[in-house]
Amino acid sequence: MSMDVTFLGTGSAYPSPTRGASALVLRREGECWLFDCGEGTQTQLMKSHLKAGRITKIFITHLHGDHFFGLPGLLCTLSLQSSPDPNKPPLDIYGPIGLRNFIWRTMELSHSQLAFPYVVHELVPTRDQCPAEEFKDFSLLRDEVPPREAQGRILHLDPGENSYLLVDSEQLVVKAFRLFHRVPSFGFVVEEKPRPGKLNVEKLKDLGVQPGPAYGKLKNGISLVLEDGRTISPSDVLEEPVPGRKICILGDCSGPVGDEAAELCREADLLIHEATLDDTQEEKAKEHGHSTPKAASAFAKLCGAKKLVLTHFSQRYKARLGEGDADITQLKRQAEAALDGQEVTLAEDLMTLEIPMKKSIFFEKNEH
Ligand SMILES: [Zn+2]
Ligand SMILES: [Zn+2]
Repeated sequence: MSMDVTFLGTGSAYPSPTRGASALVLRREGECWLFDCGEGTQTQLMKSHLKAGRITKIFITHLHGDHFFGLPGLLCTLSLQSSPDPNKPPLDIYGPIGLRNFIWRTMELSHSQLAFPYVVHELVPTRDQCPAEEFKDFSLLRDEVPPREAQGRILHLDPGENSYLLVDSEQLVVKAFRLFHRVPSFGFVVEEKPRPGKLNVEKLKDLGVQPGPAYGKLKNGISLVLEDGRTISPSDVLEEPVPGRKICILGDCSGPVGDEAAELCREADLLIHEATLDDTQEEKAKEHGHSTPKAASAFAKLCGAKKLVLTHFSQRYKARLGEGDADITQLKRQAEAALDGQEVTLAEDLMTLEIPMKKSIFFEKNEH
């Protein structure tokens, strides 16, 4: 089951010819989930190998323009390209409270009618996610739900878990957690559920169990009683479950709110963290609610993340240096130094990273 991440925009504040505004796509088995949708995301999508029509979910980390100004345009283009289908499930959009109002108002004011249904699920932030003077209560802006739009969920923090449960399907769980920024910001954890281990067919044959419905029962965790009275329990013939992959995508922040974030991101296969400014600009970064490579690495270390990717770079850092330009590679060096030499990747527009499937523990043991 393939899984990859493609960065569409890796710059902060505004799109430039070399770095688009924030957006990335997590693709799993052909289905695309878009995380953030800065201005110009739809043209970045066209430049990539991805198909915009495959987007089934959109997640917005926070309501700064460089993370969602591309949304109305993208939705309208998707609408132009889609044929009306009454059975099409709605496009799920997740983001901080206020997002639905933005989408609905933009559509209404521009006389845009989307040819497909969408649902906006809004996360209610807590006041400690930004400086007190910046907090605005957008729950007061709520409108009636327009007739064509299904009622989305209002998601509140689960105080016990210190997270928000967004998706819990047969194969995946998606949770959000709180980040501190100039405005309330969120991180998302996408985690596959463990897959049941394979049936040990050789062993079953030795036990005299023939292929058929019995195999299905054992795979589903049901014990089997043979004609001679012997009982075979699933653990006798099933290999260890295969752990799922975990991807963590953080919005703009100077750090998480609460200690549980590190627990949620524990041993992430891929941790995508912003590093707007380099370590020499630490004070300025903090003042604006942003991180440096050192701060991103410290969080990655705390989580035991297997791979750290930095993104959301200030447009001052140039990939190709001209006179007076700041060198982007210093961010990589700073992050790697803070991670005791572990390799850190700097995201670039249109870069794709694959996240390979994990193997069953049983198999790994046998390989050595
Ligand atoms: Zn930003
Ligand atoms: Zn921001």
